[in-house]
Amino acid sequence: MKLVLVQGDITEQSVDAIVNAANSSLMGGGGVDGAIHRRGGPEILEECRALRASRYGRGLPVGAAVATTAGRLPARWVIHTVGPVYSRSEDRSHLLASCYAESLHVADSLGASAVAFPAVSTGIYRWPMEDAARIALQAVRQAGSRVTEVRFVLFSPAAYAVFERALEELG
Ligand code: ADP
Repeated sequence: MKLVLVQGDITEQSVDAIVNAANSSLMGGGGVDGAIHRRGGPEILEECRALRASRYGRGLPVGAAVATTAGRLPARWVIHTVGPVYSRSEDRSHLLASCYAESLHVADSLGASAVAFPAVSTGIYRWPMEDAARIALQAVRQAGSRVTEVRFVLFSPAAYAVFERALEELG
């Protein structure tokens, strides 16, 4: 599996699947979620509504992942995952790692070979970037997925630099 870091906007990536840092409701939100629904169009929300009416009546659990169409985006699928809100008093790292592992599991079941991830939980959910980068890179490496390219799409130059350092440190 090839790990690639890019600085940019995840909605512009031409890959098989892009991952959305969603919330449990699957009904859209701010950050990456807002950008994906805005640029992907209403088809994505329609499929999210259908998921809420069927498999995920109580919402998508934290650490889980599920796919929908990518609507008008260049990617074929959006894989929605719900990151944990950062907590200083409770270690939720396993849930953040699970977002990456479960997303790759869904990608495998779709037959996706190139997948782009944002830095899940590092925006509205306040996870410190250094720690999130380490968890993300380790989780992807350990996932044992058939995906051939995992692309981390970092929104800011600062986030990109943090991921670059974390990747070097992991060797
Ligand atoms: P969460 O609620 O999981 O924290 P956010 O969407 O608020 O999710 O933020 C996750 C990360 O994605 C943050 O680092 C944020 O800067 C970044 N981000 C926001 N918009 C985009 C985008 N269009 N493409 C890639 N990354 C983005």
